[in-house]
Amino acid sequence: MKYDKDNNFQTERERMVRSQIENRGVTNPLVIKAMRTVPRHEFMPEDVQDMAYTDRPLPLGQGQTISQPYIVAFMTQSLRLCGGEKVLEIGTGLGYQAAVLSQIASEVYSIEYLAELEARARNLLTYLGYNNVHLKLGDGTLGWPEMSPFDGIIVTASGPDIPDSFKEQLAVGGRLVMPVGEYRFGQTIIRLTKGTGGHFQEERLLDVAFVPLQGKFGWNI
Ligand code: SAH
Repeated sequence: MKYDKDNNFQTERERMVRSQIENRGVTNPLVIKAMRTVPRHEFMPEDVQDMAYTDRPLPLGQGQTISQPYIVAFMTQSLRLCGGEKVLEIGTGLGYQAAVLSQIASEVYSIEYLAELEARARNLLTYLGYNNVHLKLGDGTLGWPEMSPFDGIIVTASGPDIPDSFKEQLAVGGRLVMPVGEYRFGQTIIRLTKGTGGHFQEERLLDVAFVPLQGKFGWNI
């Protein structure tokens, strides 16, 4: 297959949005527009750049993976953003999901555990001009209390449970989207919506397989 590198992979990206995103039921126009705008290939390690728009997760280095496009779109839509929100992401990786969120939310805060990935994401996001994404190196399972509350929290690695820190740092009415379950055997994406008086509504959305969340409230591996 010949890739239109000269055209910034425009054709591949458009095809990806139609066949993988719209055809599978992602309908939120803000999400579709973001997926159409953000140059996914720019966030890929060079050796897999040609596969950036294929229907699969890809290795991003350090044993971590970048989710397949559909999962990025699905999780973003599951946050139920309308535009202008403050969102926290756990697991920056190389910053692709953060860049997608930055097209919808007004401020994106993202935490990465591994120094090498955080440094590369920082360079990439600065180079590409995503000025409303704020990165931090550290254990994301503690959240980012100084910047809370968040209208949305998205976790892009799977944990055994939803840490209390996330529940506390969610605004009333805010949504948390996270893959929860046994790390070896797959997980389920859960959406938690915070109500008043410490009440939470939980919905099970989709079965998935994510890399494990590390840190204090992640897996002890
Ligand atoms: N969202 C990324 C993909 C992330 S893969 C993207 O769009 O490219 C999951 C990431 O979570 C990995 O980079 C991993 O290092 C990170 N991670 C795992 N445990 C973490 C923790 N406790 N805090 C922050 N990041 C964590």
